[in-house]
Amino acid sequence: MNDNKPETKKIMKERIKRYILPENEIPRQWYNIQADMVNKPMPPIHPATKQPLKPEDLYPIFAEELCRQELNQTDAWIDIPEEVREKYKYYRSTPLVRAYGLEEALGTPAHIYFKNESVSPVGSHKLNSALPQAYYCKQQGVTNVTTETGAGQWGAALSYAAKVFGIEAAVYQVKISYEQKPYRRSIMQTFGAQVTPSPSMSTRAGKDILTKYPNHQGSLGTAISEAIELAMNTPNCKYTLGSVLSHVSLHQTIIGLEAEKQMAMAGEYPDMVIACFGGGSNFGGIAFPFMRHNILEGKKTEFIAAEPASCPKLTRGVFQYDFGDEAGYTPLLPMFTLGHNFRPANIHAGGLRYHGAGVIVSQLLKDGLMRAVDIKQLESFEAGMLFARAEGIIPAPESCHAIAATIREANKCKETGEEKVILFNLSGHGLIDMTAYDQYIAGNLQNYEVTDEDVQKNISELEKII
Ligand SMILES: *Cc1c(COP(=O)(O)O)cnc(C)c1O
Repeated sequence: MNDNKPETKKIMKERIKRYILPENEIPRQWYNIQADMVNKPMPPIHPATKQPLKPEDLYPIFAEELCRQELNQTDAWIDIPEEVREKYKYYRSTPLVRAYGLEEALGTPAHIYFKNESVSPVGSHKLNSALPQAYYCKQQGVTNVTTETGAGQWGAALSYAAKVFGIEAAVYQVKISYEQKPYRRSIMQTFGAQVTPSPSMSTRAGKDILTKYPNHQGSLGTAISEAIELAMNTPNCKYTLGSVLSHVSLHQTIIGLEAEKQMAMAGEYPDMVIACFGGGSNFGGIAFPFMRHNILEGKKTEFIAAEPASCPKLTRGVFQYDFGDEAGYTPLLPMFTLGHNFRPANIHAGGLRYHGAGVIVSQLLKDGLMRAVDIKQLESFEAGMLFARAEGIIPAPESCHAIAATIREANKCKETGEEKVILFNLSGHGLIDMTAYDQYIAGNLQNYEVTDEDVQKNISELEKII
């Protein structure tokens, strides 16, 4: 074989599967889409005064720099501190992968790429925000951080990030996950965190809920309430959050900024960008850097958020001011929500069981810059199984939703013959979620329908503030 023959070269070039950035190409700034949005998100509102929130109002809860980032609507680019960038280099850039195996399995003419965030030390994208959050706390002299975690990915990421920067972490884990997913708890404990199942008797919020519902299995909202309460009552202690808030999506834009450079290495630009949706951080992370070209240069990339049919805030919720937590400690946020008392079915994609969407994404959806699809549990696992067999990576149950949405689009391309370029985010691997796969394989998983009455009931209880 003569490797210099032009056609051989072409074939070899076309079959490049993984794109990695050299260290000096790892982004030095995050992208703040709020600065470029034509309609800015409406302000968070103080629940007591009903006034728009100022960064200072958030200082008792979060590290100060994070409060400023949260409400920053003017600076499009925010420097990544060198100390954080050094830690990013442990696992970044993450590979951009051309999914030839999946394309062949589907027989689609679409070009499918995925950004593989599962290679981070904790197995998901969550570390991208845990590191800067722990760093800003440390820098401000904070010694302890608290948080909540559902399936355990955020808790694991924060526990490790706290260890990296030499501070202590206390994690409230949703009780059902604490009991059903002991390995994530062990991971957090391995990194040195203190883990408490929520609701617990250690906070007023937890006691209130347990008094009303002694068998409460826990929810993210409840765990958030407990973690915030601990942060507010403990000196030198701050709360951290792994999704929903704008500063979290900001940190996650490292995903899309890398992907933009890597897609250029592949000589392509995405027609569609897809991610699964819990509170919006991995979606915003991969989507916003590309969306900036839609906003500023009129590019026509489509953005699709894939949410579970059992927790359909984007496709069936309302745009309304609502609390981020069950007890009503957080500011009121203008968002697509199912109501803060909505209790989603116990699906295996634990990271997607949250009642609301971040304020940036909510505004973008309202303005038609993106769209959302809902995916039933069985379709998501079917997609995950196909992907695992085609690409050799077992995806997190959350990520399976993005894969299912990608497969739907790739199948449409098969019908029309269009060679669309589809980029999706593989937010994490599923190696600690094999119980879920076991149940799928055994035929024990089911779809959960949410009735209109369920949706209406919780929404009608919301205070009308808009
Ligand atoms: C937490 C999590 C999600 C959902 O959170 P977003 O903020 O919506 O990204 C998705 N995938 C994985 C693997 C997660 O850990």
